[in-house]
Amino acid sequence: MSLLNVDAALQILLEQAQSAACLDSEDVTLDVAHNRVLAEPLQAQFAMPPWPNSSMDGYALRSAEVEAGQVLPVSQKIFAGHTPQPLALGTCARIFTGAPLPEGADAVEMQENTQVLENGSVRFLQAVPSAKFVRPKGQEALPGDEMLPVGIRLGPIELAMAASLGCAKVKVRRRLRVAVLSTGDELIEPGQPLALGQIYNSNRTMLSQCLQRLGCTVVDMGILPDDAEQTRQRLEQLHDVDLLISSGGVSVGEADYLGQILREEGQLEFWKLALKPGKPLTFGRYKDTPVIGLPGNPTSSLVTFVMLARPYILKRMGVVDTAVQSFNVPVNFAMPVAGVRREFVRVWLVDGRAEKYDNQCSGILRSAAQAHGLLEIPENTTCVEGQYLRYWPFSSLLN
Ligand code: AMP
Ligand code: MG
Repeated sequence: MSLLNVDAALQILLEQAQSAACLDSEDVTLDVAHNRVLAEPLQAQFAMPPWPNSSMDGYALRSAEVEAGQVLPVSQKIFAGHTPQPLALGTCARIFTGAPLPEGADAVEMQENTQVLENGSVRFLQAVPSAKFVRPKGQEALPGDEMLPVGIRLGPIELAMAASLGCAKVKVRRRLRVAVLSTGDELIEPGQPLALGQIYNSNRTMLSQCLQRLGCTVVDMGILPDDAEQTRQRLEQLHDVDLLISSGGVSVGEADYLGQILREEGQLEFWKLALKPGKPLTFGRYKDTPVIGLPGNPTSSLVTFVMLARPYILKRMGVVDTAVQSFNVPVNFAMPVAGVRREFVRVWLVDGRAEKYDNQCSGILRSAAQAHGLLEIPENTTCVEGQYLRYWPFSSLLN
């Protein structure tokens, strides 16, 4: 079986996600909208700012009346949030940042460029050009401007934007419900004593956390022993989920009961990816529910999740741009032997240069926990010290 290129696999997954039914939308308040996906564009309903206002603490004036040394009496004081009177001719107004400009004024001078005289009048030390320190009406937006497009995930900045537009609620897609299943006779949950041959289930926690960070609702389906009947029973309990993510049991197929049942009850594609770590991956369907089967080794699970499952999930959530911010960094190591698989190496950055962990075994979580991100070594490529390669920060991949 030839290896499937990672981009081709991603393409298939994204196409599948794209063709799945769009999630319903609902109106939610801003305080619970974090990480939700916008279902309707957010438009400015009014000019922002709605009136010209001062960007400085100082004096509002008519620029034509002021040249260096000019003295003007102060005719009013305008605080932010207060309504000014029209500016009397031949006067200036004390004004504070964010306060509306009085009618007639066209500029502000900052207080540092003025002197207050004993009689309370103000001397301007230099001429003041029109529009100085004025935030004009509509500087940020005009009514009808699209401020946030459909299909973005709402983070603190986007939610602040919604608040600034006066929206108490936003229309978002409902949460994607994802079931997580860990397979393997050897697995037990932390907190219990470890018998010979057993290991603690770490994928459950990793996958649940990743999914929660994405804004999914996680349905924990526990640990599934390597047993056909129990697998069948557990799958029958699958209700009201949009996706099942399993880990383990996809490497050779001997104890692959999940795959067996998907073949009988649904459909299954088994991929050998040109990816290291994370060669085996299954993608299928149990009845109507899509299933992604990740490999069991913790770092293989991690890499296949972030590189393949994550973009698929984001697309299902309604996110338009599923690409992750990655960038090229110089490497502090050499990889003299080219591999046929695209490799993601656990690295940390020192002064912007990637250092590699010695132990890159797919079963080792420790080096992933210490790493800042993954460095991509393309297929059939060697690398020398100082060469630039693509770096994928965990801060983006796990976001
Ligand atoms: P498998 O894909 O089932 O052949 O598993 C490959 C390796 O990953 C084996 O060493 C398993 O013990 C380990 N493994 C499988 N599932 C998990 C899990 N949920 N947590 C930690 N390790 C796992
Ligand atoms: Mg197993």
